[in-house]
Amino acid sequence: MSDSDGKKTLGLRGARPGNVKQSFSHGRTKNVVVETKRKRVVVPKPGAGKPAGGGAVGGDPSKRPAGISDAEMARRLKALQAAKARESEEAERRAAEEKAREEERTRRRAEAEAKEREQREAEERAKAKAEAEEQKRKEAEVAAQRAAAEAAAAKAAPAAKESGPKRDLSSRPAPAATPRKADRERENRGRGGRNEGRRSGKLTLSQATGGEGGRQKSLASMKRKQERARQKAMGGSVEREKVIRDVQLPEAIVVSELANRMAERVADVVKELMKMGMMVTQNQTIDADTAELIIEEFGHKVVRVSDSDVEDVISDVDDADEDLQSRPPVITIMGHVDHGKTSLLDAIRDAKVVAGEAGGITQHIGAYQVKTDSGTVLSFLDTPGHAAFTSMRSRGAQVTDIVVLVVAADDSVMPQTIEAINHAKAAEVPIIVAINKIDKEAADPMKVRSELLQHEVIVEAMSGEVQDVEVSAHTGQGLDELLEAIALQSEILELKANPDRAAQGAVIEAQLDVGRGPVATVLVQKGTLRQGDIFVVGEQYGKVRALINDKGERVKEAGPSVPVEVLGLNGTPEAGDVLNVTETEAQAREIAEYRAQAAKDKRAAAGAATTLEQLMQKAKDDENVSEMPILVKADVQGSAEAIVQAMEKIGNDEVRVRVLHSGVGAITETDIGLAEASGAPVMGFNVRANTSARNTANQKGVEIRYYSVIYDLVDDVKAAASGLLSAEIKETFIGYAQIKDVFKVSNVGKVAGCLVTEGVARRSAGVRLLRDNVVIHEGTLKTLKRFKDEVAEVQSGQECGMAFENYDDIRAGDVIEIFEREEVARTLD
Ligand code: GDP
Repeated sequence: MSDSDGKKTLGLRGARPGNVKQSFSHGRTKNVVVETKRKRVVVPKPGAGKPAGGGAVGGDPSKRPAGISDAEMARRLKALQAAKARESEEAERRAAEEKAREEERTRRRAEAEAKEREQREAEERAKAKAEAEEQKRKEAEVAAQRAAAEAAAAKAAPAAKESGPKRDLSSRPAPAATPRKADRERENRGRGGRNEGRRSGKLTLSQATGGEGGRQKSLASMKRKQERARQKAMGGSVEREKVIRDVQLPEAIVVSELANRMAERVADVVKELMKMGMMVTQNQTIDADTAELIIEEFGHKVVRVSDSDVEDVISDVDDADEDLQSRPPVITIMGHVDHGKTSLLDAIRDAKVVAGEAGGITQHIGAYQVKTDSGTVLSFLDTPGHAAFTSMRSRGAQVTDIVVLVVAADDSVMPQTIEAINHAKAAEVPIIVAINKIDKEAADPMKVRSELLQHEVIVEAMSGEVQDVEVSAHTGQGLDELLEAIALQSEILELKANPDRAAQGAVIEAQLDVGRGPVATVLVQKGTLRQGDIFVVGEQYGKVRALINDKGERVKEAGPSVPVEVLGLNGTPEAGDVLNVTETEAQAREIAEYRAQAAKDKRAAAGAATTLEQLMQKAKDDENVSEMPILVKADVQGSAEAIVQAMEKIGNDEVRVRVLHSGVGAITETDIGLAEASGAPVMGFNVRANTSARNTANQKGVEIRYYSVIYDLVDDVKAAASGLLSAEIKETFIGYAQIKDVFKVSNVGKVAGCLVTEGVARRSAGVRLLRDNVVIHEGTLKTLKRFKDEVAEVQSGQECGMAFENYDDIRAGDVIEIFEREEVARTLD
């Protein structure tokens, strides 16, 4: 670059040469030959001013100035050729030197970037000084020997800023190369301005890639442009400092984003990566360690951030007490199927909403608000059932403030009633009992109350603290009372929220609407959600295009406990996803993408999320966790009770076992939901998970453990509670077979015609007979046949005949579970 123009070898005949030495950074110098002619008026020599830059035209006779004889021209040409030869040698040498220097620089840079920067700055200062001196000296010379000034002026181009105008005046036949060179110099400064020492590398690259033209403008290039403009405005001679940036570095970063964050060119970053032996494009992701090397290479500072830090923009600051205002309670209605949940929800809505607004059409959006006679506003979740409740809770959205437990007065406490009680208790949400169908003749509310006692729900009528109201969804009896009871409960709870902050809410329902795109009903929990707000919700994000309330009206905003339909999402979130308003769309998108990735990783790693071992580790790590929650499902009520009793006895000062829920029958999705929400494993005693529950458990990483001996179950939990659970697997399922038909074979007894549906059936393995996912027999096989032949193994997808040793009660539709047992020496008592 600049020094490639420096060496001046072409001379004029009869000239009196004088050497001027210029110093540049990195100890580079340049000799400038200043020639003066005694006899003649100066004739501009094309190329004489700048042989290297305009070397190609240096000896062109057609450019011969007038008034020079042929002989002289010949001499000159000769001299020119000699000079050219020297020059090319020189150029080669310089190229080699430059290359060596470049290599040296690259090496040094990696080791001592900071040091070099300092040095460079010092050099810059020295250079500026030297140039200024040089300039002075040259000016003096120019004054003295005006005739030869253009040659000197050409050399002085790097310091052009001060001398430029003067020189232009004096150099009448301004050589074409001079302005070009000055231009290039300026451009170079602009590009490599931050780092003098790297200038050559950058220039080469930019030349190689054809400069900036036609390339898409990146953020970084905008920043550079601004920087250049600023420097221009400040004058070229001002010393430039490299802007050292703090570069936020997540665990993985896309190359172009890395360049952006450093405000460097993407091409430069890609080139650096190539130097490190990584062939990547700007859209590829590199890991943090590689990125760190690059950042250091460019002289910036690395600030490592964890991926999850992207969530930090969602500030969960606690609101000051004075900002809090009371908010309506959010109520979920739960209870056994057919006890009247839906009827009750409809009755409340019809009674209140329609009465309130004449002709008001209600719209089902998953939640609605009503006003009691005393003026309290209540928000009801319109999605009865436990799955909604647990799925919300498991996704981190504890929405419900109060549970209304519906029990039919003509029925009794049923399995789902108990489940609901356990759900509410697990979530620590107060219960209000609604004894429904009181209009029925068979209604016996006292029976319901006493049955509830057994499940530790002691209603006021039984001198307890749980409010109970007798209602009829059909006649409307007791509805007002129920609402007042809820209002009273909410008063006790002192529910408050700050409406003046960025909104946070929970998705109650979401679907893809054909006409409106993805729509989510969001229950605002904090702050106020407004039209135009940018938000992230679960793995989706968007901008509120419209808000529609439970009456189907468009509203501009929704405050705490208000349910609204939100339009303007980029995808459909899931019920229970939390919505947060963010400042910028970039933030919202970044968080959504991070979550999507994290969810993917979690799914990949599922299966081990809530193992007993991890649970205990968690209990140990977190001093607050002193309870080990478990779910128990058993084949009969008797074993369930026996297990629960045994569980209650386990425990020491540090940890207690808490049975969240126990029940009879197969492990269902609801069980998995509750287990996931509470981070509990599910213990199946002689029962199995049904297919959907098994899939959900796999997906959510809920551990299911199967037992057939109560002591084994108790032992395992005991061991887990004392942190000594052995990790060995005692039992492995190797296959499942479905019984298609049952045949009677003389001398053998009943033989099951089966299809192996999963894994493999093995003659030597243990077998269990499952009917409706409940274990009804455990034993060994008497025979395993494939087409009349006794075989050792039958693979999945094949049919076979099986008969049990000493057991005959087999039916078509039963499932045979095939397992292998590995004896593990137990160290516990
Ligand atoms: P859910 O499954 O808990 O949602 O129960 P539903 O609301 O679907 O009600 C189940 C059945 O009980 C329906 O046939 C209702 O008509 C009936 N039902 C609900 N509430 C009452 C009530 O207060 N009185 C009477 N007599 N029947 C009721």
